[in-house]
Amino acid sequence: MRRMSGRDTKAKALVEEILHSIFFLGQFLKPPCTPEKIISTGRKLAGLKTQYPVSFELYSSQLPRRSPFSCVLDMFVHMIGKQTKKDKDHLLIQMLKDFIRPLKKDGLKSRPLVSSTICVSKCNNSDSYYGVSMSTTGCHPGRIMVAASCLGTYWDSYVAGAVMTYYPTKEKKSYFDGTFKLPGKVHCQSFNLSDGEKKDPCKSCGNLFGLSKTVGMEWAYGHCAEAESLSNLFKNVEEIRNDVHPQYGSFPIPEKKTRAKKNVRDELERILPNTFKWDGHFYTPG
Ligand SMILES: [Zn+2]
Repeated sequence: MRRMSGRDTKAKALVEEILHSIFFLGQFLKPPCTPEKIISTGRKLAGLKTQYPVSFELYSSQLPRRSPFSCVLDMFVHMIGKQTKKDKDHLLIQMLKDFIRPLKKDGLKSRPLVSSTICVSKCNNSDSYYGVSMSTTGCHPGRIMVAASCLGTYWDSYVAGAVMTYYPTKEKKSYFDGTFKLPGKVHCQSFNLSDGEKKDPCKSCGNLFGLSKTVGMEWAYGHCAEAESLSNLFKNVEEIRNDVHPQYGSFPIPEKKTRAKKNVRDELERILPNTFKWDGHFYTPG
């Protein structure tokens, strides 16, 4: 058997994660949809089961850390590799636009599981770090994915802390404030994935990250592309992260942070589907 290269291994892990996330979300459909129903072609199903058995085994017991389209974004970033910085953002947005265009089914206002927005964050000459908006349909799946991103260590803890300040409602917690004002040197810009046009941040992102010139809606906290993009920036560029100062000061009071996390976890467990028997783990492909 051919030995897998590092790039192949990464791509395989992403496909595994995409499948697991899609199969998990199938449980919210009415009636719930099994992997066997989602992958309707018998031959394809057998091939996928052989190649990605863990996705099939764990979709009803372990939570995804993020939505499928977030993995798709990573796949494109992985495919582009080391392009020149100037072209990379434009190329990535164009590739995603080309990818999602044919997915719009006739009669549907939106594309299920497809993000509407990408955000690009960078600082001076740093690389760009990307994020996409939550790509689930229905209230509970999106809410679950945000909780999973906060608790499953997918998001940087500063971003998770800011989101947990509000989650699951739009009301700020009285006992915990992890919001912060983004350092002025960070450039954070979103783009519409349908037409490629720039988008101003919404009111929620203004409240979470101190972004200015906010317009329009106060979307559900943690649903916007800014959260994932900034999280990736903080995880990769330590000097920027060191310049971020959450409202709770140098350290959150442990009991208050624990209480905020418990609040998120309680809500998460409350809205999980009946078919899902959580073993307490977040699915991490490996
Ligand atoms: Zn927003």
